[in-house]
Amino acid sequence: IIGLAGEWLTSTANTNMFTYEIAPVFVLMESLTLTKMREIVGWPNGEGGAISNMYAVMAARYKFFPEVKDRGMAALPRLVMFTSECSHFSIKKAGGALGIGADNVILIKADQRGKMIPADLEVKIIDAKQKGAFPFFVSATAGTTVYGAFDPLHAVADLCQQYGLWMHVDGAWGGGLLMSRKHRHKLSGVERANSVTWNPHKMLGVPLQCSAILVREEGLLLSCNQMSAKYLFQSDKQYDTSYDTGDKVIQCGRHVDIFKFWLMWKAKGTVGFEAQINKCLELSEYLYNIVKKREGYKLVFNGEPEHTNVCFWYIPPSLRGMPPSEEWWQKLARVAPKIKARMMESGTTMVGYQPQGKSVNFFRMVISNPASTRSDIDFLLSEIERLSEDL
Ligand SMILES: *Cc1c(COP(=O)(O)O)cnc(C)c1O
Repeated sequence: IIGLAGEWLTSTANTNMFTYEIAPVFVLMESLTLTKMREIVGWPNGEGGAISNMYAVMAARYKFFPEVKDRGMAALPRLVMFTSECSHFSIKKAGGALGIGADNVILIKADQRGKMIPADLEVKIIDAKQKGAFPFFVSATAGTTVYGAFDPLHAVADLCQQYGLWMHVDGAWGGGLLMSRKHRHKLSGVERANSVTWNPHKMLGVPLQCSAILVREEGLLLSCNQMSAKYLFQSDKQYDTSYDTGDKVIQCGRHVDIFKFWLMWKAKGTVGFEAQINKCLELSEYLYNIVKKREGYKLVFNGEPEHTNVCFWYIPPSLRGMPPSEEWWQKLARVAPKIKARMMESGTTMVGYQPQGKSVNFFRMVISNPASTRSDIDFLLSEIERLSEDL
């Protein structure tokens, strides 16, 4: 409700925010909020999704090769970047969009829980160097989209330090856990990153869209993207033009995304967000415990989920009590799409499914709405069972 009120006010004001003079209060709110987010990440001094991940790659590339801004990719060696096979597709997309090439985004193996394997990262860094490429960027994921896995950030940071690479943390989905004293240890090491993506529009429940890129080195994003258009960014204004933050970004017209988040934070406080996050994680633990024990359910990976993602197969009566053969898995692969289609037809509830790696189609339940309750979870499971009685 508060976020919605914020969204309404923002749309009513309908202002841009490329310079301080045009939206002074919003610019200050953005500056304060990003400073606060940086503090939570663990960086001492202040400056501040898919688009955020692209900004991170741009800032890193500019840090190593500032000439890219004027002379383009032709002036650079072949750049190579790394991310895990379980990372979000936006990393590969950024490589494609920025002229690095999607083939130069090298995927690092993940373990059975979806966490990046640091030893494989090291092998692939060395291999890229031997092939004459220039490895410059690693994106570790804090909260992968499907499994909700947290990459081992300290181990990745050690390798980045050793080989001189930029470390980015994609915390689009998992960044919210930083607000919780109980769960923030899962992002231990994030303070060693050079940049962090954190989307308040995901786990924190801020209305779309609100995605932050935090860059440790102050001023880098500005020099990377600055074009100093004379009609906006005159240097002889009467105020401190460091508040003209619009030149940091690649957009010109930009919606004010910060106000609703600022307002929610003021209203709930960090403790409010913390309670919200803890509640979602408790609820997913509730679901996990049922799925682990109840007949007809099978977990995709062993062990308690670290985020709210609970990934499971539902095994309908006709497929129970058989040893899983190739053919059995093929049949199971058709179950989740069938149940989901029936859910849509009866209009009661929905849950996403997908295959991943060698795992055939499974359900992925994620909880980010703190208004969800145990009875919602019970209802979801009873619908799965009801709609698959004849399967
Ligand atoms: C959702 C997600 C993104 C993309 O975020 P947008 O909502 O497109 O800004 C990036 N990385 C991860 C891990 C995600 O889960």
